[in-house]
Parts: sequence; C-alpha cells; structure tokens
Amino acid sequence: MRAALRAYIYRGAGFAVAAAVALALLVLVFDAGDAPRYRHATSAFGAAQTVISGEADLRGRDLSRSVALHGEWSFYHDGLIEYDDFTGDAPPVATGTLAAPGSWSGARVGETHLDRHGHATYRADLLFERSQLPATVHFYTTEASSSARLTVNGVPVAATGTPGTSRRTTQPSWGVLAGSVEVETEQVMLLLQVSNYHHARGGMLDPLLLADRPIFERWIRFDREIAFFLLGALLIMGLYHLGLYTFGVSRRAALLFGCITLIMAVRTAIVAPAYILRAERVWHFELLMTIEYLTMIVGVVLFVFYIGELFPQERTRRVERLVAMTGSPFALLTLFAPARYFTATLPYFHLLTVGASVYVVVVVGRALGSRRRGSLVSIVGLIVLLATVVNDLLYNLGLVWTTYLAAVGLFAFLFSQSMVLTGQFADNYRRTRMLLREKIQLTGLSFRDALTGISNRRSFDVTMAREWDRAQRSGTTLSLLMFDIDYFKQFNDNYGHQAGDRVLAEVARVSRERLERPADFVARYGGEEFAIILPETTLRGALHVAERLRQAIAGCAIPHDYRGADGGGDVVFVTASFGVAATTADRPETAQYLIHRADQALYQAKALGRNRVES
Ligand code: GH3
Ligand code: MG
Ligand code: MG
Repeated sequence: MRAALRAYIYRGAGFAVAAAVALALLVLVFDAGDAPRYRHATSAFGAAQTVISGEADLRGRDLSRSVALHGEWSFYHDGLIEYDDFTGDAPPVATGTLAAPGSWSGARVGETHLDRHGHATYRADLLFERSQLPATVHFYTTEASSSARLTVNGVPVAATGTPGTSRRTTQPSWGVLAGSVEVETEQVMLLLQVSNYHHARGGMLDPLLLADRPIFERWIRFDREIAFFLLGALLIMGLYHLGLYTFGVSRRAALLFGCITLIMAVRTAIVAPAYILRAERVWHFELLMTIEYLTMIVGVVLFVFYIGELFPQERTRRVERLVAMTGSPFALLTLFAPARYFTATLPYFHLLTVGASVYVVVVVGRALGSRRRGSLVSIVGLIVLLATVVNDLLYNLGLVWTTYLAAVGLFAFLFSQSMVLTGQFADNYRRTRMLLREKIQLTGLSFRDALTGISNRRSFDVTMAREWDRAQRSGTTLSLLMFDIDYFKQFNDNYGHQAGDRVLAEVARVSRERLERPADFVARYGGEEFAIILPETTLRGALHVAERLRQAIAGCAIPHDYRGADGGGDVVFVTASFGVAATTADRPETAQYLIHRADQALYQAKALGRNRVES
C-alpha cells in the first residue's frame, strides 16, 4: 500500500517536472525576443486592412510596432515589373488586385485565372507623414514562394532565391526575406516580384511585415535558437532511446520512438529552416523539400506503429497496416517526383494525418480506460500537442494573437513519450531486480543445509573451487579441515535420531562461532561429517584452528555414554576427530587431491583413537 502510494507520488512528481518544462517552453516562446511577431500583424488581419487597392496609408501609425501589409495589393500578372518601368512612356497596367498574404494558385484577378506556376509582381504604395521621415524601414516575411525580390523606389531591399520568367531561369529558395531601406519621401513604391515554378503554392504566403526597428533580426535569431534547442533535445532523446534498444534493455517501442525523434530532428534542422539552411541551387531546394515532406510522412506512419507497440493490448493492426499502405504512395511520389508535384498532395496527406491522429487518440483512450502505465501522461501530451495545432490553425486564420506553436507542442509531446518509455524501462528494471533478489533468496536456500543452517555440500563445492582458484592466483596457502563425530551411530542408537540431529546442529553452531576470519567457511560435508575451508592459512594455523575446535566440541559436554568396543577408550561426551591438509607452493595438485589428503588425515585420526587432530 505504502509502496503504491510512493510510486504514485514519484510518478506525479515526474509528470509535474515534465509539465513545468513544457510550460517553461511555452513561456519562452511567448516572451522571448520582442512581442509575438505577428500580434500586430494579426490584429490587422481581421480588422482594418493596411493595404487598400494597392495603397498602404501609414500616416499616424506607430512604426515602432510592426505593421502587416495585409490586404488588396496591385497585382501585375506575368510580369517582373521594375520601378523604372513606370517612368517610361507606357507604364505597366495592373491586372487587378489580389489578396495577400495567401497563395495565388487557382486565384482570380480580374478576368485572369491564375495558375500555380508563373511569375508576377505585387505592388503597394506606402504613404508616410513628413514628421515620420526620414526613416529606416525594415521589411520581413517568412514565405514568399518560391522566389522573391523586394525593391522600394527601385532600391533592392531583400531577396530569396532569384525570380525568373521560366522554370529554367528561376532559382527557388525558402529563406526569410528581410532587409531595410531609407525612406525620405512621403510616398514610396514597394514592388515584390515573385516567381514560382517549383512548388504547388505560389505567391506571398505569409504577411509582409514592416517596422522602423531591426526587430526582425532578433526574431530570426530567436527562431534559430529555438530550432537549435529543439534539435539538440530531439537528438539526445532519439539517441538515448536507440541506445536503450541497441543494448537490448528496451522494447521495440523504444526503437520506433528513437527513429521518430531522430527523423523529427532532421526535419527541425530542415524546416525550422530558412534560418539554418538556404537553398543555393535548384537541387538544394528539391532535396530540402523532399526531406521536409518525407520526414513528415514517415514520421506519421512510424508514430502509428509506435503507439501500437506502446499499448499492444489496445492496438488494431489492420488500421496500422492501412495507414502504412496509404502513406507509401505519398512517400514514393515525394522520393521520385519533383517538389512541384508532391507539394500538391499535401492537403490529401493531411486527411491521412487526421485519420492517423484519430486512431492514436482512440488507442491512447482505450489504454487510459484500461489504466495502462503511461496512458495518462500520453493523453496529456496529446492534448498539449492538439492545443498547439489548434492554435496554429486559429492563428493562421487570424483569430488568435499568438504565434506558431506546433513545433513546441510536438516537442512537449515527444518529451512526454520519452517519459513514458523511461517509466516503462524503470518498471522493467525494478521487476528484474525483484526477480533477481527472489532468485538469490531461492538459490541461497538451496545452498544451505536445512538441519544445521550452515552451508551444504553443494555450497562447499562452489566455495572450494573459488577459493582454490584464488589461492592459485595469489600464490597463498589454502588449508582444508575435515572432521567427523565419533561413534555417532552409537549415539543415535542410544539417544535416538532426534537427539542426534540436535547434536549435529549444536556442533555446526559451535564450529561457525569458533571461526575467526570472515573468509573462513564451514559446511556440512555429509552425514555427521563437516568441512572447513581456511583461505590464506598455513598448515600450522589450520592445525591450531582444528585443535581449538576439537576442544570446543568436547567442551560442550554433551553426554555420550559409550564403552569403546574396538579398543578405543571409554567415551563420556560427544567428541570429533579432525583431519587437516594444506596446499604446498612447490607441489601443484588439484582441489580434489587436497580433499583426499584431508580425508586421509581424518581416517588417521580415527585410527589413532579418535577425538584428535591429524595431518
Ligand atoms: P566413527 O565416525 O567414530 O568411526 O563412528 P560412527 O558411528 O560415527 O561411524 P560412521 O561415520 O560410519 O556413522 C555415521 C552415522 O552418523 C550414521 C548415522 O546414524 C549418523 N548420521 C548421519 N547423518 C545423520 C543425521 O542427519 N542425523 C542423525 N541423527 N544421525 C546421522
Ligand atoms: Mg562418525
Ligand atoms: Mg561418518
């Protein structure tokens, strides 16, 4: 009962620590760097647009807080427009306006239906007040797919990849677009050229943010720090669990979990992205996209199997096989097709993800119902993960003012799973230790003589072999002492077998008590015969011990009334005869031979009249 309570407290404490870590992470995300990066941006999302008919009126705006350039941008389809084009005789005419941020794939501008692939220019005219000028204005966006170049009044501000007019001339990238420019006039023209020939979604996917302070650099740094933190934590968790599995101490769940965690580490390094890796060539871009999508697909499928391994009683193998079978075409397409094809399958893969999530929740729910170890922690981890995913959805829709959190949610969840596995591992360890202890107790009994309570013949054999080896290695003398109670058959005849048993127990007790060194070992060799092993003891010493013991046994004065018929003297008390033998350094022999010599000496002692010591 108390043990159960203690286990409960430990588990609770462990869980509290995990929850605290997860909470600390969330706080870290919210508080680090500047204000949450899109707070102002998102507040602009639902309410007033900042860009109306291609014009952003920033007069009277507090530019120390970031502004999202969100709304209806002037859109020039099929053209990479330059600032200088507007000074010529035939200035470009906008195709119409297009809502940004958002993918242009499938959108309609005026009469024009936009394909996912193509190139275009977004334009917004920014209006400032004289009092705001001159100002260094910073721009930042995380996703302009899949290449973009930003200029203000013809001055290059930032670029990600190289926009071109065809697949061949376009260099895709997925870096952050960030840069700054000096604004001196009250009206400036902002042009964002975007080319997409390599991804399913094209255009300005995230809001373009504007501020007068370089807070963007801090955001980038913070994103990179979070990415490295997650990367390190995932790597350690992954390697730890793979190690547990490799050394054969953990179940297959640990193997799967280690793989998933390492896959997520790779994905974090790739995706958290942009901040760590940049695509300098088309095949870099393709490779990074492949890794990003493949890790996601393999991660989801492996996770379904992992949950099955974690709660085997609750799993449904048919569903797991179905997920694997449905996932493999996505994986194959991702492996062998260019990004522009497989990125288009994402919405369909999300359906599979939703199905897999339902399965995972059902399995964990069943496990909770059966009160399985780790099911509670798992369900809480799932709830945290789900909350962050919902947050991201709402945030994406502009309904909450937070930031993207799913990466942290995923980490918190993986961390909770790491705890579950470690908990199971600890359980196994405890059970093994308990079994081991029981085994030791059991074998301990079988090494003991039931009647006398001292070691038995089997124990003597083991100890003798060990001490013999030790003596050989250390070159020390090993002595063996054997003794046998005199006329014991007669004692049984006179006083009964039970009295005989009591004498045996008494002799055993006395022998054990009279041995002085911890290494000295006494055993019941058989019947009423005993053996004593004396490590690091010379023959002289052994003779001394034997003599002392002989006197002690006789000194017990256990009455044994017997008139010797074979010429031995009359006996009054129980006595014993002793044979002693010791190893000799110069004469190599076997343990068996030492026993034989001690036995011979004992025979000698009997022959010479009993109650004496011979060697
Ligand atoms: P000695 O050794 O002096 O030559 O004579 P002995 O009578 O002791 O001769 P021996 O060693 O041949 O006899 C062994 C006797 O010890 C036989 C048996 O009656 C008795 N004995 C052996 N084991 C037990 C036991 O577990 N309990 C009792 N009560 N007696 C035992
Ligand atoms: Mg005897
Ligand atoms: Mg005997």
